[in-house]
Amino acid sequence: MKLPDTFQVGPYTLKLSRDSRLLNANDIGACRMSTGELVVRDGLTPQETVLTLLHEFCHVYGALWDGEVDERQANRLSGFLYAILRDNPGLQALVARAERETSE
Ligand SMILES: [Zn+2]
Repeated sequence: MKLPDTFQVGPYTLKLSRDSRLLNANDIGACRMSTGELVVRDGLTPQETVLTLLHEFCHVYGALWDGEVDERQANRLSGFLYAILRDNPGLQALVARAERETSE
């Protein structure tokens, strides 16, 4: 699955790496705020890949507010966000429209 090189997550521009050597043996993703890097294991299904990205974004959310989003919370929230995005394919266009109309 082709992915962007970077993701904007709040104030952070995070570089995406697919280098599995950066992951612990059983992990499929990681978020390294200290280096501004997201790591997603190569070879996952497209659904696993997106869920992993959303999972790592949840950890960024925790870092932003000096809290912690644990694995269970990140798994639940990423699945919830994935389902919202899947079930509402017009959502991104709606956000774009809201941004346009807000800036007018
Ligand atoms: Zn996690």
